[in-house]
Amino acid sequence: RAGSLAEILAGSTAHGDRDYIVTADRRISFREHAEQVAALAAALREEYGVGKGDRVAIAAANTPEWILAFWATMAVGGIAVGFNAWWSARELDHGVGLVEPRVIVADTKRAALLENGSVPLLRMERQVGDLVRRYAGAPLPTVDVAEDDPAIVLFTSGTSGRPKGAVHSHRNVCSVVEYHRMNDALAAALSDPVAPQDRRYLLALPLFHIASLHNLAVPRLATGSTVVMHQGAFDMDEVLGLVARERVTNWGAVPTQAHRLLEHGDVSKYDLSALTAFSLASAPSSTAFKQRLREKLPFAEKSLVDSYGMTETCTALTAASPADLAETPGTLGRPIAGVQLEIRDPLGIPLPDGEEGEVCVRSAYNMLGYWNDPQATSNTIREDRWLHTGDIGVVERGRLRLSSRRSDLIIRGGENVYPAEVEGVLAEHPEVQECAVLGVPHADLGQEVFAVVVTAPGSGLTEEQLRDYARDQLAYFKVPSQWRITHDRLPRNATGKVIRTAVRNDI
Ligand code: AMP
Ligand code: MG
Repeated sequence: RAGSLAEILAGSTAHGDRDYIVTADRRISFREHAEQVAALAAALREEYGVGKGDRVAIAAANTPEWILAFWATMAVGGIAVGFNAWWSARELDHGVGLVEPRVIVADTKRAALLENGSVPLLRMERQVGDLVRRYAGAPLPTVDVAEDDPAIVLFTSGTSGRPKGAVHSHRNVCSVVEYHRMNDALAAALSDPVAPQDRRYLLALPLFHIASLHNLAVPRLATGSTVVMHQGAFDMDEVLGLVARERVTNWGAVPTQAHRLLEHGDVSKYDLSALTAFSLASAPSSTAFKQRLREKLPFAEKSLVDSYGMTETCTALTAASPADLAETPGTLGRPIAGVQLEIRDPLGIPLPDGEEGEVCVRSAYNMLGYWNDPQATSNTIREDRWLHTGDIGVVERGRLRLSSRRSDLIIRGGENVYPAEVEGVLAEHPEVQECAVLGVPHADLGQEVFAVVVTAPGSGLTEEQLRDYARDQLAYFKVPSQWRITHDRLPRNATGKVIRTAVRNDI
């Protein structure tokens, strides 16, 4: 196993002129990529003074430069911080204040929201190319990072309001890479028709999530396979066109994307013959839904997998193989190699198979903790490095089934929304007395956000006004799409807590 991401980067030149990143109109080989990263790394050091342990925030939609900026940060021993590209100005400010980056690599849209801050902006569209040309020929710097040094910070919604930054060490991410290598080797040994270096992976999920960064862009640089990047809004015809043209072999999707594929009608006009694997992750999908996918995509019969993981664990905790799904519908499968999994009672005592409790895991993949938040860290990572997921599940014959989700987390199209965060923002509105935010079922998105808002008697606050207000403060996916505005107080229990089940029964 490599000791650092810088080491993985240095090794990538061995893949030469083969494609690392392909988009609708660009192709970047491993050699070109390494040259550009070395130049950008020199620029980060010379122009912005980025050195070991310094944070470089990346605030952008998917683009090859996102990946370039990431690896350049690794090359100088810095810490790459992936901001959510849908964040509002307020959320971006929170991220900046929390991690105090030395520079923010931002695309035009994000730069417009960050312009008035004190941290220098490196403009992705114009400046990255300029700097790469100016520093062309610079050698890759040598850096001295330890395996347990932080490498990446990605954000998860916080139960108590603001997003928290999950900190991943070089050891964590290099272990994920090793897992992928091992998996590739196993698949090859089991006569997978496509050799690892000939695989072409679709990247159509944001790079500020573990699915695209730790489990795609990073390991593929190590194994020499190709990342086929879709850019812009998720348009199924565009995606299918790209998959066909670039002969994509592996497609990983959140259920919402898979749902759009199911709804898309006839896909036979696209040549999908290169596809050999389809995987689901990030949010629940039903057995019936999976069956419809297999019917639509014949290759999925032998390849459809569902995997369960979280930002805090860098990668999957469990994966359900086609055989697991056939034998135990609804399962999330077995722990992946390197993950110890236990179901525990509220006192932290391991429970026997068949009993329901909290999913707890220990592995080399688990994060170091939350950035600058020892309290949240010790709530999550407890005795002997066991990480408490907050998800409730049961293990039957070695396979995990989730019965309910951590606290009251809403997953809208693969993006997480914590009611507390949205409630906190709505409650700040002067005319709002109290509010409750809930997830309600939605066919395409899995869930959508519903807000019950109590306004003062006589207040004429409208849904439009509330929506505009929320849009200003919150990333679009957190903005409630359904509203109920009322003067009736929320139901509360004896200790004053809102009774969510009662609110839910009322809507
Ligand atoms: P995130 O940090 O965005 O990766 O969200 C992690 C949470 O999403 C987990 O704690 C689970 O509650 C949920 N989750 C992730 N993958 C799955 C899956 N395959 N099926 C059901 N729930 C999932
Ligand atoms: Mg997620």
